[in-house]
Amino acid sequence: MWKTIRVTILLVVLVIVAGRTWLDRVETQSWKNTLWVGIYPLNGDGSPAAARYIDSLSQQDFTNIETFFQRESHRFGVTLDEPIHMELYPEGKELPPLLPDHANVFGVAWWSLKLRWFASRAAKVPGRTPARIRLFVLYHDPSSLRSIPDSHGLQKGLVGVVHAFAVKEMAGSNNIVIAHELLHTLGATDKYQPGTGAPEFPGGYGDPDQKPLYPQLNAEVMAGQRALTSSQFEMPASLRNVVVGPVTAGEIRWTHP
Ligand SMILES: [Zn+2]
Repeated sequence: MWKTIRVTILLVVLVIVAGRTWLDRVETQSWKNTLWVGIYPLNGDGSPAAARYIDSLSQQDFTNIETFFQRESHRFGVTLDEPIHMELYPEGKELPPLLPDHANVFGVAWWSLKLRWFASRAAKVPGRTPARIRLFVLYHDPSSLRSIPDSHGLQKGLVGVVHAFAVKEMAGSNNIVIAHELLHTLGATDKYQPGTGAPEFPGGYGDPDQKPLYPQLNAEVMAGQRALTSSQFEMPASLRNVVVGPVTAGEIRWTHP
């Protein structure tokens, strides 16, 4: 008797979670209404440099992400005037759970559950419209950091964790990383080789039909870098030289097969 009740409850919970994930997906890929994307800045290393940088942030620092989505979606025939709206929320105090290095499948699943639970609490800001997609941006002082930790965007839960540099000169490339992780939450996959970071051909090239092929004028957003030659790559300085390729456009349903 008890066992049946327990199994039934578990099944109901699973059906609700699966239904919710499915609805999120349909809603965020319909491109009929403007999607609200929240930037939740956090001091990633507790440094004074990151604190000052976060204090200096304004809505304006993220508008070129809106312009990028507008320009690229219209190229693929989306008619919605403003596909995404970026909204800057006040600085949070608590850092999101971090994905342990070399986590196995269960480790990743457990981390993603903890992250969703964290996001549901941390994204609530009194008196502000809640964002549909929550991006926690951890700023780091570049002088004390050699390499930046990996950023993540999850479609299940519509949440992302982005590591960024707390300097104005890096604002352009920070926004490329934010756009990349945002696209993961919308269902886009990576288009670079995990080991080398090389853009995959053709999906990871800004224009795989460009003649001559090298150097590529633009980077594909899910590859992150533009190919200068078949073995040299470079991250552009801003979203002006980044495009959404046809494969990514299909994954986020700007186009329909
Ligand atoms: Zn990625």
